[in-house]
Amino acid sequence: MVIGVVIVPLASDVNVRHLQADKLPIMAMRQAGLDIPNVWAVEQTKGSDVYSNGLQIENRLAVTNEPRAYPLVRRESDGQVGPLRDQPAGIVFHTTESDQVPFEASQSRALKRIGQELLLYIRNKRAYHFLIDRFGRVHRIVVESDTANHAGHSVWADSRWVYFDLNASFLGVAFEARMHTDERLVNQAQIHAAKVLTEMLRSKYTIPAENCITHAQVSVNPDNTRVGWHTDWGAGFPFKDIGLPDNYELPNPSLYLFGFGYDPTYMNSTNPELWKGLFQAEERVREAAVEHRQSIAEYRTSLQKKYRKQISALRHRGATEENDHEPN
Ligand SMILES: [Zn+2]
Repeated sequence: MVIGVVIVPLASDVNVRHLQADKLPIMAMRQAGLDIPNVWAVEQTKGSDVYSNGLQIENRLAVTNEPRAYPLVRRESDGQVGPLRDQPAGIVFHTTESDQVPFEASQSRALKRIGQELLLYIRNKRAYHFLIDRFGRVHRIVVESDTANHAGHSVWADSRWVYFDLNASFLGVAFEARMHTDERLVNQAQIHAAKVLTEMLRSKYTIPAENCITHAQVSVNPDNTRVGWHTDWGAGFPFKDIGLPDNYELPNPSLYLFGFGYDPTYMNSTNPELWKGLFQAEERVREAAVEHRQSIAEYRTSLQKKYRKQISALRHRGATEENDHEPN
């Protein structure tokens, strides 16, 4: 436990690396009917940032980690590892699963103490890029240019690219909250904070809505080829209130691209709202198996093989470390 005043190096824009941006093509996103918000920084100081949509970020605890760089894998390709990218592609939402006390005035002292201890803990672990505390304050933890240890083994895909192990490619935003309690999962202040933070990040990095998803949707266990090693936000994520479409409906890419399955434990810790994406993905697997004239089991095995091949190609790529960049 750390006690007393913590003095930390502040991550101002001066010492944050600025690598060449490689944003997704804006025109293509507009054509696809993707609605990217327009938010800009109004004031940035060592203590805090203020944005045009009312978002305020506390910078006091900002910390660096490994610089972000991840190889792109094109969806249509046969797993060839493409150029490196240094811009985040999306957001994974988490709950901290930390201690909770009732959200009441009489508990203010305990709420503050627990919140402060949590901040120091996750800072020490480089666990997320942002934490939204129970009073709706947004704290910058790992700076946006760096990776955070938030997603572990994970898979996601958008209309162009497939992403593996999202610590580097996706930003981690955590709510101070705990799943499966009697209390309301998050409060209005936290929802509002998540909305303005999501708008800012989507605006800054041109993040499509389909890449704003929850940890329960992306987490996988490669050892048993099942989804849901982590199941935070496997239910009740307020997509609509945060200004996003219901992304629980998106077919789960780890199932239909790489043959992952799920078990009763996963079903028990998630809700039917998320199962929509699972069932849609299974439907795709069924259709593709027919197309390939294989049984579902055979087809799934071939997909799992593809996953293992892909992961080993990425490891190999990590070892050789080239430095080319995606041109657009
Ligand atoms: Zn998580």
